[in-house]
Amino acid sequence: MLIRLCQHSFHIYDLLVFSAAITLIVYILLPHRFALRYDYIDQQHFEEALLAATTPNVSAQLAPDCSYKEVIAESRFVYDARHLEKIQRDEEIRLGGEYQPEDCRARFSTAIIVPYRDRPEQLATFLTYMHNYLRLQLIHYRIFVVEQSDRKPFNRAMLFNIGAKVAASYDYPCLILHDVDLMPLNSGQIYACSKLPRHMSSALDSWRFHLPYRTLFGGVVAMSTAQYNMVNGMSNLYHGWGGEDDDLYERLKVIGVEICRFDPAYSEYTMLKHKHEIPNENRMALLRAASLRMHSDGLNSLVYKEVERRMRSLFTHIRVET
Ligand code: UDP
Ligand code: MN
Repeated sequence: MLIRLCQHSFHIYDLLVFSAAITLIVYILLPHRFALRYDYIDQQHFEEALLAATTPNVSAQLAPDCSYKEVIAESRFVYDARHLEKIQRDEEIRLGGEYQPEDCRARFSTAIIVPYRDRPEQLATFLTYMHNYLRLQLIHYRIFVVEQSDRKPFNRAMLFNIGAKVAASYDYPCLILHDVDLMPLNSGQIYACSKLPRHMSSALDSWRFHLPYRTLFGGVVAMSTAQYNMVNGMSNLYHGWGGEDDDLYERLKVIGVEICRFDPAYSEYTMLKHKHEIPNENRMALLRAASLRMHSDGLNSLVYKEVERRMRSLFTHIRVET
């Protein structure tokens, strides 16, 4: 009897191991079976989803409007040696890291804001690749690198607020808030704002190209300057890693503005390797009160000192003390 029982449980155990092994194989070979489904705008509707707006100098340019049909329809993988190793046609980039197409009038002016400290190799890779990438898109853009020059814990959100203020002073109607270590892989992910704030880096290689949760609004996001102002920018209170991007999402929820994403086939990004930063232990408590704080903590309470503003050949360099 005992022997029969043991044999019986042995069968069940076998079965469990077998099903676990099958699940694991499916998980490895067919990761998309486990992907979180989310709504996205498909390629045919990108253009109508975008918000056409430029700085006054571009609006005044005498040239026919640029067309974005081909840029979108002919999207391809461009994260290759040609785009990574050296800057092509570097004479086209103006001092301060600004570019606009000459043969046609861009319909989008975008300020790309990069929070930064102590990652010189990543910044070099970013600048080379992004200038090669962005000039495929026929947009007007400028790269602003906001560097935290003090030794306090890194404050990513506050650097975005500072960048947004500077970009507004140059009349940019659209902000792209961009980690320095994220590189877009598909040439058709237009670096312009959509009418709704857009989460751009939704298919990240370090997440096996999956979205970990639906409300994720970090990494690379596009938001009109008007919408950024409407939510009072980001919180200045997140020191160290984590939480500030979820806080921004909460702010949008309060004003009833939804976010959007483009087709995942256009939203692939790679993240350069780096060590994990120390998480901010206070982040959950801050996040719980996000909506209560939004009108008093943000652009309207921003205090910082600009130590230096320098026009470099590939970017506008703003060094600040937080
Ligand atoms: N960052 C930086 N120096 C730091 C910490 C962060 O420049 O010491 C900037 C950089 O743009 C980076 C972003 O903040 O991409 C987000 O930080 P991190 O990459 O550590 O976040 P994670 O990828 O772990 O979400
Ligand atoms: Mn990172």
